[in-house]
Amino acid sequence: MASYPSKLLIDGVWQDAVSGETFPVTNPSTGAELVRIADASAEDVVLAIDAAERAQKSWAATPALERSRIIRRAAEIGRENIQRLAEILTEEQGKPVAQSIGEINYGLDFLDWFAEEGRRAYGTTVPSTGPDKRIVAIKQAAGISVAITPWNFPSLQILRKLGAALAAGCTMIVKPAALTPLSALEIGRFFTEAGLPDGVLQVITSSRASRVSPTLMQDTRIRVVSFTGSTEVGKILMREGADSMKRLSLELGGHAPFIVFDDADLEHTVNQAVAVKMRNMGQTCVSANRIYVQRGIAAEFSQRFVEKLRAMPIGDGIAPGTEVGPLVDAPAVAKVEEHVADALAKGAELLFGGHRPEGEEFANGHFYEPTVLRGVDSSMLVASEETFGPVAPIFEFDTEEEVIEQANNSPFGLAAYFFTRDVNRIVRVSEALEYGTVGANDGMISAVQAPFGGVKESGIGREGGHWGLDEYMDIKYISLAGLA
Ligand code: NAP
Repeated sequence: MASYPSKLLIDGVWQDAVSGETFPVTNPSTGAELVRIADASAEDVVLAIDAAERAQKSWAATPALERSRIIRRAAEIGRENIQRLAEILTEEQGKPVAQSIGEINYGLDFLDWFAEEGRRAYGTTVPSTGPDKRIVAIKQAAGISVAITPWNFPSLQILRKLGAALAAGCTMIVKPAALTPLSALEIGRFFTEAGLPDGVLQVITSSRASRVSPTLMQDTRIRVVSFTGSTEVGKILMREGADSMKRLSLELGGHAPFIVFDDADLEHTVNQAVAVKMRNMGQTCVSANRIYVQRGIAAEFSQRFVEKLRAMPIGDGIAPGTEVGPLVDAPAVAKVEEHVADALAKGAELLFGGHRPEGEEFANGHFYEPTVLRGVDSSMLVASEETFGPVAPIFEFDTEEEVIEQANNSPFGLAAYFFTRDVNRIVRVSEALEYGTVGANDGMISAVQAPFGGVKESGIGREGGHWGLDEYMDIKYISLAGLA
């Protein structure tokens, strides 16, 4: 049996929860318990904040070059251990190992990126109002930071926050999702091995977020909270952090439109649709939730799309060749079933899938077939709620104006995609979509150097690029007067 990390990381020491309580981590492919791990409560959180406070000043004062070396070393250790890390990620979360490797590599690339960006946290001098004055703006570490992360990318979501925080000179307390805490603990392990000083990183696992989060949100010593997860919880954190005026970075829910105009390169577009819809079994914030296809090509698009999905093997993510793993837990399957049943009851046509797969190998896991619905309209749940599963609802449209209006008719504004060969339309539609991230003929929008984030109820702030570092830095204006 593999060895899994199971204790909290506080002040460089692996320790049990003060209460001694533990909770189980299970494999969504088999239902088997992998390990029981420490279940933190508010007392552990206070210990973690105390440790971060002790480390904060010296970490901020550590030269950026030295911080950069440690972050890069951690990335190297991650790459040396990638197969084992990917298998642990797959065991706790479900996605096929090849996708876990992709996720971890992408997360480690963020470490490299921010290790370099931290060295370039340049200030500015501004022309002053008189000859005896100088105006200088410098960037400084904001202070202790917190990362609260979801289960869908258990490694990436932490690494891109942690890389930015550490490079900026901030200590960090990580609170991973209860369903997928093992990848977080492994990250703690390889940063410790890389020589990160004690107290700079704490990893607090807990089965009840609401038991630890108020302590984190109300403590005035914590200056930045970077949260990725649902809009509902993002709003709770905003309220909880109001009294201590937390700086928040919120990467929240999405409901991405994927628009196919009739002049699009259809083969390329179908391939992108499959990738955007099926990555992580549709459990991503940037997953295509509403596929709008111009009426004249809807039948051909649907047929080609279904053919590609039919060829994707379903199974345990650990098994070689698996392309579609399980959903993360039973409620996730129940939600998919509810959305499909609702669409069918309201008149959608089932083109493919629509069930849990049959067979002994699926009996104890949370599997659901890739599913395609056609004839979908705005009255159906799939049109407005995140399904967070492998369900592709196809809507048909006639004009550009009509589809832009429908695409923007959502409280969310994270990612949107559209496909066309018309250059003028590329500019028009890119600018008209009310989304933080737009893929024009591109479903693969992830890039460490780009500013990823949403507008409207999809959140506040940007991760990646030089923007990602700024989330963890304060700008200080220094007015120098009386100069000779
Ligand atoms: P979630 O329920 O909001 O949970 C996210 C994190 O918040 C988990 O660590 C969770 O802990 C914690 N949490 C839950 N309730 C909390 C509370 N009352 N106070 C403080 N923390 C709390 O989201 P999820 O179901 O894990 O993830 C799916 C959602 O994340 C989707 O809406 C998806 O679109 C969004 N997402 C957004 C992005 C982005 O970049 N914009 C990326 C990925 C996912 P527990 O695990 O213990 O509940």
